[in-house]
Amino acid sequence: MSKLKGSCLCGKVSFEVASSFDKMFLCSCDQCRQITGSAFASNLFTAADQFKWLSGGDDIANYQMPGRDISKSFCRTCGSGVPWSSGDGTKMIVPAGSLQGEPEVAQMYRTFISEQPLWSSTLDQVEAHEGFPS
Ligand SMILES: [Zn+2]
Ligand SMILES: [Zn+2]
Repeated sequence: MSKLKGSCLCGKVSFEVASSFDKMFLCSCDQCRQITGSAFASNLFTAADQFKWLSGGDDIANYQMPGRDISKSFCRTCGSGVPWSSGDGTKMIVPAGSLQGEPEVAQMYRTFISEQPLWSSTLDQVEAHEGFPS
């Protein structure tokens, strides 16, 4: 099976994962908006045995929201979101933006669109540029 590598922005945390995923969730819930600072979280799910850390295990910090099944793992140095293990340890959740290369995804889902901010609800109508507008 082909593999993809991924890392945080500074490169301390890196990993390798099978390139094909069953599911990807683009989640616009209030918690994902706040935890990412962006319109939605983009998370891929894979079986734990399809995933391997290459470096930086000690450089990862984790935030667990009290009383909720919501958490985020991030690089202590650069703050990038990095993969984390599901509560029962059977799955790894991989932030899609941490991958170098394109994953194969069987099924994508947008979730909690009722909670998405207005400014992200019409992205296909926003003026688009290859770089900054001149
Ligand atoms: Zn980093
Ligand atoms: Zn969410």
